[in-house]
Amino acid sequence: MEIIHLSAECYPVAKVGGLGDVVGALPKYQCQAGHYAKVVMPAYNTKFMHQNQWRKEYEQDISFGSYRLHYEVLKEKTNKLGFDLYCVLIDGLTNRDSVYSENDDTERFLAFQIATLDWMSQWKHQPDVIHCHDHHTALVPFMIQHCGRFQRLSKVKTVFTIHNGQYQGWFDWSKVIYLPAFDKWKAGLLDWSSIINPMASAIRCADAVTTVSWSYMHELMEKANGLEALFQQLHYKCYGVLNGIDFEVWNPESDIYLQHHYTVENVQEVKQQHKEEICEIFELDAKKPLIVFIGRLVSEKGADLLPDAIGRALYETHGQVNYLVLGSGDTRVENQLASLKYLCKGIYNCFIGYNEALSHRMYAAADFIVMPSRVEPCGLNQMYALRYGTIPMVRSTGGLKDTVTDYGEPEGFGIRFDHASTNDIIISTHRALQLYQDQPRFQSLRKLIMSFNNSWEKSQERYERIYKNA
Ligand code: ADP
Repeated sequence: MEIIHLSAECYPVAKVGGLGDVVGALPKYQCQAGHYAKVVMPAYNTKFMHQNQWRKEYEQDISFGSYRLHYEVLKEKTNKLGFDLYCVLIDGLTNRDSVYSENDDTERFLAFQIATLDWMSQWKHQPDVIHCHDHHTALVPFMIQHCGRFQRLSKVKTVFTIHNGQYQGWFDWSKVIYLPAFDKWKAGLLDWSSIINPMASAIRCADAVTTVSWSYMHELMEKANGLEALFQQLHYKCYGVLNGIDFEVWNPESDIYLQHHYTVENVQEVKQQHKEEICEIFELDAKKPLIVFIGRLVSEKGADLLPDAIGRALYETHGQVNYLVLGSGDTRVENQLASLKYLCKGIYNCFIGYNEALSHRMYAAADFIVMPSRVEPCGLNQMYALRYGTIPMVRSTGGLKDTVTDYGEPEGFGIRFDHASTNDIIISTHRALQLYQDQPRFQSLRKLIMSFNNSWEKSQERYERIYKNA
């Protein structure tokens, strides 16, 4: 099958979170399985764009409301990602330093979708599937079915994957002028509560709708930022497909960001070496267990709980554990986490910002990773942690529920808690310390989790079945 992935992010070209990781990996595994998968994304001003060679595939003008926009489609020359990568450059709109902006993302991603469909409708052939990811590409199913201009693509099957149902891409009806002319009888397919809701439109128009774990699909039926009824009504075409992880990028045996590689055989010594190095940088104590948090500092991730929970957990365990945080997001939380450094010297530290290399080193160095998420569609951190022999401490929600069991249960291996609350984080810290003190059990759990196979193969097959059914 020829599968075209449309996305705002794709690792290593541009990544803000899990969406980038998924779109950077799934197509590679699909190509390995014999399909012809490609990625089309906006051309940002990222390092990857500047450090690689590009060939101009196509250029054209499009109308965009009362404007005329020029776009170019650039193809990465060497196929170094394991699939064909195309970046759509619209001067002034896509070529920014960051993936998302505060003010004009509606216009930026609408223009990207229109330019992409304009280009694809010139192709001599039609692909089998267009796979759209999140609200930035969610108007594509509607546009190919109802905008006369893209009629050539109207029979192409569409799959829409929700990586995060909280953000739906809403915009006011006054901006409908940007869309190419469409059958006005179909306007209702764009509307939800009197505004244009791209996610709602994709759920209605796509041939299949997926999200990134089974539990999150069930949660969306109950709580989906206003779209519950739509999920319930269209449940017959909605599926949960658990994300996989890219075993080539996330492999402690060959990780390019690690100086010391390891396997199940030497995990104990080498992880300790990583821990000692990280503890030296962050002035922590490598003799104590190291618990880390890596992620966006937003309320979805329960990051606002961290300052209080870490402070109290350290106090209650008499400083017998270390905490290290890597993240950026909400300024208030950033400031609170930064101030805590001065109160808990030697047992707590943080790095406020985005740092891919440091994240890899932290997965390798840590004993535990904490994820007190309020909402977690899939969560990749816990799967990376498992691969790196780091025990996940997770709130039982969404994909965390589907991938982590509690060590108190038969064959369990992680730490699970029910509430996104300070108390649950503190109790889990006590349990982590207890487990760490039982070294034989701790080390054997570590070896067990490293042997799990959370790679993309199985999920790739599920997507294949969904495409075929569509
Ligand atoms: P989400 O997409 O909701 O942010 P996921 O768990 O699906 O969460 O994916 C998070 C990805 O982003 C992981 O690869 C994680 O390591 C990475 N990440 C998040 N914050 C940072 C950061 N500050 N520095 C480096 N990597 C980060």
